[in-house]
Amino acid sequence: MSNTDFVLAVEDLTVSFDGFKAVDNLTFYIDKNELRVVIGPNGAGKTTVLDLICGKTKSTSGSIKFMNKELTKLSEHEIVRAGVGRKFQTPSIYENLSVYQNLEVSYPKGRGVWGSLLFKRTEVVRSQVMKIAAEIMLSDFLEMEAALLSHGQKQWLEIGMLLMQDPELLMLDEPVAGMSAKERDQTADLLNRICQNRAVIVIEHDMEFVKKIAHKVTVLHQGKILAEGPMDKVQADEKVIEVYLGH
Ligand code: ADP
Ligand code: MG
Repeated sequence: MSNTDFVLAVEDLTVSFDGFKAVDNLTFYIDKNELRVVIGPNGAGKTTVLDLICGKTKSTSGSIKFMNKELTKLSEHEIVRAGVGRKFQTPSIYENLSVYQNLEVSYPKGRGVWGSLLFKRTEVVRSQVMKIAAEIMLSDFLEMEAALLSHGQKQWLEIGMLLMQDPELLMLDEPVAGMSAKERDQTADLLNRICQNRAVIVIEHDMEFVKKIAHKVTVLHQGKILAEGPMDKVQADEKVIEVYLGH
């Protein structure tokens, strides 16, 4: 395929584990500043798709182009450096560090201000930490040990750690699992803000939450796309109701 304006172009992507195709000839495209939600029954291949994009799992065949750069041949580190951030289901924060420190250590090493004085870098990092802390609603918790945060706040902190890298594509696997209703609403607002500056892919089961954030929904089933489009269209789709929403 020639160059495109899509942030992400996944084409004919397949991965097989001992002959079992967890992702089967998948093609989809994500626009700049799009917030895409991926839904589907357990085992549909949702997490595997994110694993393939971030390089944790290597594809059997097919292509993943991120800003026209082929990712399938790159290492996980190179993919992060290219601008892809990925959050796993369980938060991986440093429990014994403060919120401030968690954000600080996530600032990309060797970014931008090299060659200038050390205090200047410190100032740049500090202002970025303050900006991201406000974004993730943790400005009042900067000195708190991360272990003491609520479950929802830990999820936000991990999102903040990814935002410190300023990724062009952010991928989140079931970010509101275990959150209170209020935290879910706040997370929806957070994601709606975040996608103004980048593309976001979210895997989620909570349909009320999906409704609040999705620009488009992709329904996966047995490693293939069952339906794709705006939420109301996907919700009314007979096949989707049969394999997923009806249960
Ligand atoms: P979902 O996130 O939609 O629930 P997954 O992507 O986790 O589904 O898994 C899809 C299928 O692929 C499942 O049957 C799972 O057991 C299988 N699978 C995922 N990763 C591996 C792996 N590394 N090795 C073997 N099988 C895997
Ligand atoms: Mg999963």
